[in-house]
Amino acid sequence: MNSPVRIAIFGAAGRMGRALVQCAAAEVDLKLSAALDRVDGELLGADIGTLSGLPACGVALAADLQQALPAFEVLIDFSRPQASLAAVEACRAAGKAVVIGTTGFDAAQKALIAAAAQNIPICMAANYSIGVNVVLKLIEQAARALGPAYDIEIVEAHHQHKVDAPSGTALRMGEAAAAGRGVRLEDHAVYAREGLTGARPAGTIGFATLRGGDVVGDHTLMFLGEGERLEITHKASSRSNFARGALRAAVWLRGRAAGLYDMQDVLGLK
Ligand code: NAD
Repeated sequence: MNSPVRIAIFGAAGRMGRALVQCAAAEVDLKLSAALDRVDGELLGADIGTLSGLPACGVALAADLQQALPAFEVLIDFSRPQASLAAVEACRAAGKAVVIGTTGFDAAQKALIAAAAQNIPICMAANYSIGVNVVLKLIEQAARALGPAYDIEIVEAHHQHKVDAPSGTALRMGEAAAAGRGVRLEDHAVYAREGLTGARPAGTIGFATLRGGDVVGDHTLMFLGEGERLEITHKASSRSNFARGALRAAVWLRGRAAGLYDMQDVLGLK
């Protein structure tokens, strides 16, 4: 058996950081070796296991990435774009692999990440859920097989605090369906309907958004045909699904050649 992959979590005191600590504790092929955040005061130096609601694990929350570099093989980053870029640069200089979970990069920032990936292996995905990534592949295949005779509609529901619509995952589902049909989503998407809309234009991909309560994230894509309907649904119930996917990506990334990978690579779906 290979030695456990030594990981560092960057943004360890955050919501995803703590979910990663919890999930990593249950994995035998991973060893949490460093926990980093920008925190100061009382939290700095606290045991990250205790902070994450687990027994103490002997890893203290630290702020100095440079000092932690020798301790880990793969950095898992769930922080903020600027912080993430600085961490990627430090890892590039030290030859360490990086799993990027942070979202919200602009085009120039993504170009910097792509440049760093010429020197080190980087996995970057806006959604690390294993289920969502499998669903995207299923949708593309189904759209290709069913063809344009089936109308495509996407319904998503999220908690009341979500500020954007449709969700990024709903958009990715739309892109996967469009790719299966050999078209571009932006040419066929219908994001809202109200009033006297007229009949449904053929070939469109429709979206409907529900908001309320504490829904973590529900997505259904429907293929509506004559006499039958096919639905592909994904329901997230906690953050742990993102954390498990990111940990799986870290194990996969160790020892890879330099390059920019995503979750479809990790899951062998390309
Ligand atoms: P959060 O605010 O709870 O945690 C972010 C953490 O990053 C905080 O602890 C913060 O102190 C830390 N941080 C900020 N600046 C830092 C710096 N300069 N140095 C070190 N640490 C720094 O947020 P969250 O809910 O954990 O989400 C974090 C990121 O992950 C967001 O971009 C979110 O959109 C993304 N996210 C991605 C996925 C995915 O599957 N890819 C899933 C969930 C969240």
